[in-house]
Amino acid sequence: MSDESRLAVGVDVGGTTIAAGVVDDGGRVLADLQRPTHGGVGAETTIVELVERVTAAAGLDVARVAGIGVGVPALVDAGRGVVGPEAPHVPELAGRPLAEIVATRFGVPAFVDNDVNALALAEWQFGAGRGTQSLVVLAAGTGFGSGIVLDGVLVRGAHGLGAEFGHTPVKFDGRPCWCGGRGCLAVYASGRGVAEAARERVAADRDSALLRDAGGDAARITAAMVFAAAERGEPVAAAVVDEACRALGATIAVVVNGLNPEVVVITGGVAASYARLERRVLAAAADHALSRAIAATRVVIVPGDKRVTVRGAAALVFYELARAGTAGAPHAWRPS
Ligand SMILES: [Zn+2]
Repeated sequence: MSDESRLAVGVDVGGTTIAAGVVDDGGRVLADLQRPTHGGVGAETTIVELVERVTAAAGLDVARVAGIGVGVPALVDAGRGVVGPEAPHVPELAGRPLAEIVATRFGVPAFVDNDVNALALAEWQFGAGRGTQSLVVLAAGTGFGSGIVLDGVLVRGAHGLGAEFGHTPVKFDGRPCWCGGRGCLAVYASGRGVAEAARERVAADRDSALLRDAGGDAARITAAMVFAAAERGEPVAAAVVDEACRALGATIAVVVNGLNPEVVVITGGVAASYARLERRVLAAAADHALSRAIAATRVVIVPGDKRVTVRGAAALVFYELARAGTAGAPHAWRPS
């Protein structure tokens, strides 16, 4: 590799897997590796070892890459590169100054942000939003994250608490959400929400084929099982999936009516299931969105995988380095 300054290392920290990749400024993943998040050595050590190994696998001197980005499934103080006081999926990282730790260890600029903010930057720089000035990512995984780019700037909110469309209320008297609210999109349309909604319904319908799919044990019902059962017409699953599509459509309408982005990207681990339901999701969005606004918006469903998420953390590096060269505060921790 001739020009290492055009390369970044992206690390995606997930609740079960940590992935690292060497990514170029066109979004190509040149090498990538994964390890379990809770493998025994601790998430911080796993991050450092993955950076060492993935750069070695690509034949690179890590000290010469443009920077290292880390996406974390938590609120992050991106300005200080510190993971928020709560990190439910990776509790050991709560409050940790990850950017400083990584920058000091490797001697290159390091950046930390919420994983879906990073994903939004990847879709904007390399993916479905390439060439636009605005996009919103809705990421349906175990939970439900989102990220916003407006006028070419990642929107984090005044206190870093923005871009949480997963907690858009879609039902006033709906089911309680793990955020403390009620009737949120996440409890209807995330992987966890779909599975839990189905478990509640089979409790009142012990003869359902969905319960038989789970071997008679409601606790074993997964979102994938619910989507598959709905596709063959199983009534309990079909009702849950119908609600999921309507909730997702209503939230697309909130996004479109409120922000008028050029592109809305639906991605994440559950996106493959929604891709098969695209017409229903778009019809639900059209039920609620202002007609001119939704007609002018490109809605794209992009099934996610780990290679995409490492591109997100790398996109964070390219985005922040470009910004540091212009106006605004660089969200970087640089080695001294
Ligand atoms: Zn919520």
